Parts: sequence; C-alpha cells; structure tokens
Amino acid sequence: MRTHNFGAGPCTLPSDVLAEAAEELVDFEGSGMSLLEMSHRSPVYDRVHRATLDAFRRVAGVPDDMDVLFVQGGASLQFAMAPMNLLGPAQRAGYVLTGTWAKGAFGDAAAVADVYPAWDGADSSYTTAPAPDALVVEHGSRYVHITTNETIGGIRLPELPETDVPLVADMSSDVLTRSIDWSRFDLAYAGVQKNLAPAGMAVIVIRKGVEADASQRLPRFLRYRWHADADSLAHTPPMFPIWIMGKVLRRIEERGGVAGLEARTARKAETLYRVIDESDGFYRSPVDPSARSHTNVVFRLATQDLEAEFRTEAERRDIIGLKGHRSVGGMRASLYAALEQPSVDALAELMEGFAADHR
Ligand SMILES: *Cc1c(COP(=O)(O)O)cnc(C)c1O
Repeated sequence: MRTHNFGAGPCTLPSDVLAEAAEELVDFEGSGMSLLEMSHRSPVYDRVHRATLDAFRRVAGVPDDMDVLFVQGGASLQFAMAPMNLLGPAQRAGYVLTGTWAKGAFGDAAAVADVYPAWDGADSSYTTAPAPDALVVEHGSRYVHITTNETIGGIRLPELPETDVPLVADMSSDVLTRSIDWSRFDLAYAGVQKNLAPAGMAVIVIRKGVEADASQRLPRFLRYRWHADADSLAHTPPMFPIWIMGKVLRRIEERGGVAGLEARTARKAETLYRVIDESDGFYRSPVDPSARSHTNVVFRLATQDLEAEFRTEAERRDIIGLKGHRSVGGMRASLYAALEQPSVDALAELMEGFAADHR
C-alpha cells in the first residue's frame, strides 16, 4: 500500500506517474539512454521540454501575451528576481503580509528594492486574509505582491485584492487548484514541488514587456527576458522536474483541468474542516474560517503531548507528514494535487476515532 503523504513539500506525486517514469528511466523511448543523460539540445529532450511548457500554458489558461518560464532556484529565488526585474530606479511596490512566506518575499525584496507593506496581518497574529478593499497602495506603486496561499499558516486569499496596479503573486502552494484571472497579473511564480513535480525549479508566468529597462543590466540568469527569449533553454534546464511535471499536468488535464482540481481540492479541505468543526473543540483551527486554506489544513489539539500521540497513531496507519512547520508547531495536513480523497477519508476517520477515544 502507498503511504498517505500529507507532507507540505515536496509533495506526493501520482503513483502511475512514478511507475511510468521508472519504466522510462533507463531507456527513454528506445533511445538506448536515459532522458537524464541526454543533451538538453537533443530533439528528444526538446520535445519533452516544449510539451511541458505547452501543457502548463493549456492547463493554467495562460494567455498569448504572457510567457511561461522554468527557472531553477525555486520560489525563493523569485522573491528577489521579481523586484529586480520589475522595478525601475524610482519605483516602489506594496507587499501584502499574510504570513511567513509573504514576509520572506518582502524581506528579500527590501534587500534589493524599495518596497512597503500594503497590508499586515500582524494585528491578528497572521490568522486571516485582508478584505479585498483593505489594502493601502501608495501612489506610484508599480505592483502589489500577494501570496495566494500561506503554506505554513494555512491561510488562503479567498479573493484577489482590489488594486489599480498589477498584481505579482507567489502561488507556490495552490497553483492550479483555483482558476486565475490572468488579466490582473504581471507576474506569478510557484515552486513546482508543492503541487506538480519533484523539487528543482519554479514555474513563472510573466506578461510580455513588463520588465524595467534597468533589468537589462542584471546578470543574465537573473533576467526573465534571458529565459523567455530562449524558451527556458538558455542554459541547462532542470530536466527531471520538467519531464515529470509534463506527466502530472496531463493527468490533471484528463481529470477536468483546473476546474476539476479545484473541486477535488475543495472537497478534500471540506472533509477535514468538517471534522474539526464538529469535534466540540477537540480539534481547533487557528485560522479565520473565511481564509481557511484548501491545500494546507492547520489544526491543533489541546496539548503537544496529545498532538504527538495523534501523529504516532497516524503513522501506525501509514498516514505521514502531519507535523506543523517547525516555526509554529501543531498539525498540518497538506492536500496537494496528487493526494486523493481516500487518503483524506482515512485521516478524517482517524481524527474522529481519536477524538472519541481521548475525550
Ligand atoms: C515552499 C514555499 C516557498 C519556497 O519555495 P522554494 O521552492 O522551496 O524556494 C515560497 N512560497 C510559498 C508560498 C511556499 O509554500
């Protein structure tokens, strides 16, 4: 039996994708070698590469006036690359501080550019999301940065904020689990290891022509244009996650694309929040109900000892990855794309039984 992997990242991957990749790993399509050993300039790899780029564009509904890029360095590198490329010398940007990741993006941006908090959830200890009209966007702002889902706090932005400047978004932990109005965005990025692929890169969607002139003076790797002009083949790309991601995207496409994944994700989240809400306080969610994440369900039990006992019990049933982030403790069940409803049902059943036994 496969382990029920609720880990927050790297994510569980579809078992049929892993089996297919294992079969192809040593001898890719009769070529006598592994795809991983091939030149990234070979026609065989080129086809795989472009198929994954196209699949992401199709599944995410990315319009023709935006580029899709694959860049090594994960979402963390994008915290700096975004302001470095988009902000000219006299420009600023507002950041919506919803939790750990948004603050990380803000801190890195502050190291290279002029940025300010357009909203800060500190008053509510980062347990909620801003109302759409709650942002304070300073005059002359180039963009507003949002984190569509806070992976650690378990907070989801239920709606995009109202702004008259473009949005830039970190979508690492909910990419493709909700439909996206691309007209609002100049840039979005996601580390692929949360929903879509093994670790090793970020997928980036950038509107054509939005880079500041100053970006031309950046080292080439740090320029979005350098990657875009070469279809993300300007240097050796991370071939392994690109290969696997193509397979994952085709599975998502076959099952109704973003709409299908959105519905499956909402149902998984609802299953767990219902158990929490109906537990008479045995399980507690620290997050404002209006901002509850669909991909990272954070909850607490009465004591840390009880939480540890719960996790031990879970592991006996092959349910793993439930420990909250080391910065906040507690429990976190991550419900990424390849984690299926039966795994969630197994966790829900454990939660109900454990609560009944420990009241
Ligand atoms: C995991 C995560 C990151 C960091 O991603 P890396 O690819 O590990 O750099 C950034 N933002 C969010 C929202 C995340 O969940």
